Amino acid sequence: MSISKIFKAFLASLTLCLILGLSACAKNQTQTKADQLKVVTTTDFYGEVARAVLGSHGKVTPIITSPSVDPHDYEPTTKTAKLVAKADLAVYNGLEYDSWIKKLGAKKYLTVASVTGAKIGQNEHLWYQPQTMSKLALTLAKEYGRLDPKHKQDYLANAKKYQAKLAPLTKMVAQIKANSQGQKVAVSEPVFDYSLEAMGYHITNKHFAMAAEEETDPSYTDIKKLQTAIKNKEIAFFVLNTQSDSKVITNMVKLCQEYKIPVVKVTETLPAHQNYVSWMKKQYQQVLTLQK
Ligand SMILES: [Zn+2]
Repeated sequence: MSISKIFKAFLASLTLCLILGLSACAKNQTQTKADQLKVVTTTDFYGEVARAVLGSHGKVTPIITSPSVDPHDYEPTTKTAKLVAKADLAVYNGLEYDSWIKKLGAKKYLTVASVTGAKIGQNEHLWYQPQTMSKLALTLAKEYGRLDPKHKQDYLANAKKYQAKLAPLTKMVAQIKANSQGQKVAVSEPVFDYSLEAMGYHITNKHFAMAAEEETDPSYTDIKKLQTAIKNKEIAFFVLNTQSDSKVITNMVKLCQEYKIPVVKVTETLPAHQNYVSWMKKQYQQVLTLQK
């Protein structure tokens, strides 16, 4: 390389650093090589599996990473749009949960709905289906392998490793199912429904829950029905999404406490300082404990 070429290369990298921000540039120097895959995911829990399978062969950037952001209401920023436009693969839930990402021009898209076979109109909280993350890991390995055939075997090995981490969750669900006896439960929102169904519980207030999810008030009849179910102890427990707040729900929880109906606390998105497995375990454990 001649001096002028070196100088030009230096100038180019300096400009790039200024564009990307100096610290980001220093940090990502080893990861922004041309052959490394750039993956974005709408939520952090999908980011976790995408990252586990990708390993060191690229970079995964989740877009929604704060428990205070409700993915149902999220709207992309300019920064997000730029990030997605540069991505080799964008992973999102689908079922109109995070469809805003479709317009942002990633090179390729993968929906979790296509992985699990879910159709529009079905409950969109697919990450609560016990098999979803395992299926997603394998599909991602195949997808990465198509985009980067050199590391195909690595991706498959990484997916298997991640699947092994999920095994304790499958065991817990089976353990719960063995003792659920088709009991009735009620929920504040349809967030935890897939897990409850896999555990063998029967959700009695789906209509009530839909209203809360859509941020409208449940009907008078729905509220009355649930109050009666609580007072008559017809439900084994009540599932509360602690990330949402409504007066109707707060009062329902109070009523549960009054009538000694256990309340299982869940969240729509990953709480701070947790990973997918620890998050699910914590929620499943509450159900296991109250079965005793
Ligand atoms: Zn939701």
